[in-house]
Amino acid sequence: MIEVRGLTKAFGEQTVLKGVDLTLEKGSVLVVIGPSGSGKSTLLRCLNVLETPCSGTIAIGEANMAFTRGAKAKRSDVLTLRRQSGMVFQAYYLFPHLTALQNVMEGQLTTLRRAKEEAKERALALLTKVGLREKADAYPHQLSGGQQQRVGIARAMSIDPQLLLFDEPTSALDPELVREVLKVIRELAKEGRTMMIVTHEMKFAREVADRVILIDEGVIVEEGRPEQLFGDPQQERTQQFLSRLM
Ligand code: ADP
Ligand code: MG
Repeated sequence: MIEVRGLTKAFGEQTVLKGVDLTLEKGSVLVVIGPSGSGKSTLLRCLNVLETPCSGTIAIGEANMAFTRGAKAKRSDVLTLRRQSGMVFQAYYLFPHLTALQNVMEGQLTTLRRAKEEAKERALALLTKVGLREKADAYPHQLSGGQQQRVGIARAMSIDPQLLLFDEPTSALDPELVREVLKVIRELAKEGRTMMIVTHEMKFAREVADRVILIDEGVIVEEGRPEQLFGDPQQERTQQFLSRLM
């Protein structure tokens, strides 16, 4: 369902992703862990084509794209691939001048060209889903960080993506707000959404992940089921990374 082969990305001289291969079954949750600066965000941003990979292939749902160093990516292919995934960022990137409802309608109107009424109905259903129906008309600054992040989740889902990408969705939140956001993500996992989640919340990771990968310096060091990777890591780098968190 989601297949990435030989994905590389460099910023100038620095190669940040060094040939990443991964497969993700429809309906499964992949958790990505790894030290700061190891390339986790870059990987997610490449899947959403917020960064253009240098080389490799990405297939998500019906979309399939090959990247070649030096060749310009075709705009229409980029848009098709981008439409397959919805991204939730670490800090809430809501439009400050739009209400919660308008934030969740925006992508539907621009990307999908949905009719306004239909977009509104869908946005209200999604806000209800994340427990914020009554905040539909609030502006981002009137919402707590946790609420803003839940609007961010509703927004990511609004274009009906095949895949949801979460980049440290709780790491900018005060501790007491983390739980409400994890609860929403947990429910989505239960519903069988296909998701890729970068997180440092190891307890949560263990609970929601079907598979876990550890990335270090742009390569996948280890991959496994959560009980295996957390309970009995095979690679020294995984052991070191996990022991630093304990
Ligand atoms: P992580 O999310 O695992 O902390 P990132 O993917 O954000 O790591 O970053 C990996 C490396 O790529 C870091 O060294 C970072 O400085 C570099 N990097 C990320 N984005 C850019 C960019 N837009 N321009 C230049 N360097 C970048
Ligand atoms: Mg990051």
